[in-house]
Amino acid sequence: MQAAISHLMDAYARQPVSFVRGSGARLWDEQGVEYLDAIAGVAVTSLGHAHPDIAVVIAEQAGMLLHTSNVFRIDWQERLGERLCALTGMQNAFFCNSGAEANETAFKLARLHGHRKQVARPKILVMGNAFHGRTLATLAATDNPANQHGFGPLPEGFLRVPYDDIGAVRQAAEQSPDIVAVLIEPVQGEGGIRVASADYLRELRALCDQHGWLLMLDEIQTGLGRTGNWFGYQHAGIAPDVMTLAKALGNGFPIGACLARGTAADLFSPGQHGSTFGGNPLACRVACTVLDIMARDKLPERAAVLGARLLAGLRKALSDHPNVTAIRGQGLMVGIELDQPCKELVGQALEEQRLLITVTRDTVIRLLPPLVCDELQIDDIVVRVARLLSASATNGAATDEAAAHMEAAT
Ligand SMILES: *Cc1c(COP(=O)(O)O)cnc(C)c1O
Repeated sequence: MQAAISHLMDAYARQPVSFVRGSGARLWDEQGVEYLDAIAGVAVTSLGHAHPDIAVVIAEQAGMLLHTSNVFRIDWQERLGERLCALTGMQNAFFCNSGAEANETAFKLARLHGHRKQVARPKILVMGNAFHGRTLATLAATDNPANQHGFGPLPEGFLRVPYDDIGAVRQAAEQSPDIVAVLIEPVQGEGGIRVASADYLRELRALCDQHGWLLMLDEIQTGLGRTGNWFGYQHAGIAPDVMTLAKALGNGFPIGACLARGTAADLFSPGQHGSTFGGNPLACRVACTVLDIMARDKLPERAAVLGARLLAGLRKALSDHPNVTAIRGQGLMVGIELDQPCKELVGQALEEQRLLITVTRDTVIRLLPPLVCDELQIDDIVVRVARLLSASATNGAATDEAAAHMEAAT
């Protein structure tokens, strides 16, 4: 397998496992070993692997029409736009192929909005710890020096304030009359599973109204049921002006969307934005089917129930673990924060527990199980994570701590 990797750019720190088949929350590698998937391709395969309805739709549409181009009307694109707008209360959609592209679309809307208000150098307010993608502009909006290092000069036009801190937003408003929009994740995923408070989001909405800023929500990870609501902003009872989606929208088939309402809905005119593949019949039909299944199987509600079960289970199982400093989440976005870097747990979880997890921001174990998990699988995730952490506690720094405790006691 090493040989196959040798002609790939070294952009990823990959685990030495290759999966060949999946079903729901289960995966099998080349040797036929079974794994439990607690990350769903990083919040992508919310309906689980190899969903039969998705497989049928892909095959059927592939046999009819894959691509024509946005030079022409595309029926499935129009249907998907209508579906998403009905679901969100937004008015118009633009389709692309990834999260970063969806955010780039949002940035272009913000700039048009600014120029329309005669702001010559419009700025977008972004957050500490944010993640918005890997293109140059989304990287500039992202707050991760490790991701940004070596890629300057990054595009300008972003101003950063700490996350979940309304005072900092007020201060920025006073100091910077050229702000035209705010971009925020309702729950930061890559940032370590940080949940913005509902009050903060409501106050942010009010400030946007007061200053004529667009409230732009990056719902690429939080959207489509993940947090226990269809969208993360619903927990705060607010509505954005612009929102971006991707990840779970195609359940693994690439698609991104930028939705807008009010003044933001009609900013583009023909020729100002575009995408060759964006909104093709196959991707849009798959996304319509994803929405059908999520609604039919009440997956947002399932995520709320299962997420509560996962959080409670982890809190119980890890209550006296010496290295766990916090367990937090919303729906099926759950983070376990440790008091030390723990990247090696990803490989240990695979090898020893046959469990897929991710570690973000060096110290946070991130769990994003498919929304189609059953209760037994959620409990199984808890058991495997607890076993993983008890193994690492007896091998790692916790050993010293535990030993110190014992010494102190004797
Ligand atoms: C994954 C993600 C992105 C980037 O999506 P890509 O499809 O990888 O470009 C942007 N924002 C958030 C919040 C994400 O989780």
